[in-house]
Amino acid sequence: MNNILRPHLRFTAVENVSFEELHKHKINSILLDLDNTLIDYQRNLKPEVIDWVENAKKSGFEVYILSNTNKIEKVSAVADKLQIPYLYSARKPMKKGFLQAIEKFNVVPEETVMIGDQLFTDVIGANRMGMLSIYVEPISKKEHWYTSWKRPIEAYFLKKW
Ligand SMILES: [Mg+2]
Repeated sequence: MNNILRPHLRFTAVENVSFEELHKHKINSILLDLDNTLIDYQRNLKPEVIDWVENAKKSGFEVYILSNTNKIEKVSAVADKLQIPYLYSARKPMKKGFLQAIEKFNVVPEETVMIGDQLFTDVIGANRMGMLSIYVEPISKKEHWYTSWKRPIEAYFLKKW
């Protein structure tokens, strides 16, 4: 439990993830979580995030959204703005969504990073797939009950490490 939950790297926000660090880990593909990683609960997409994705593409990374949301209009709006492909209803941490992403985006797990704000979906899922896992702090603290119950447990582990 302990190790599979543990992210390889941690940053305060997606726009602070270092491309140099990704290069060091031989990463060429980036899977991004949507809710609370790219956008807040009002669906705001910060200019810093847009710039970061733009720079990632310019630096040679392939960038994708891998989201558990079932709201296609929400994910497609962000993907259109960022000009990147997406997969939704992914059911992270289950392997199926990751396997679909690998096939659809044609990425190699060992050269792929999953960046997200949840240990129990993004990080566990990536770790199980042999991907690099990056935890970023959630954009907004106000959350739905089905996410918020996990936060104290996440906080316990994150503090311990
Ligand atoms: Mg999220």
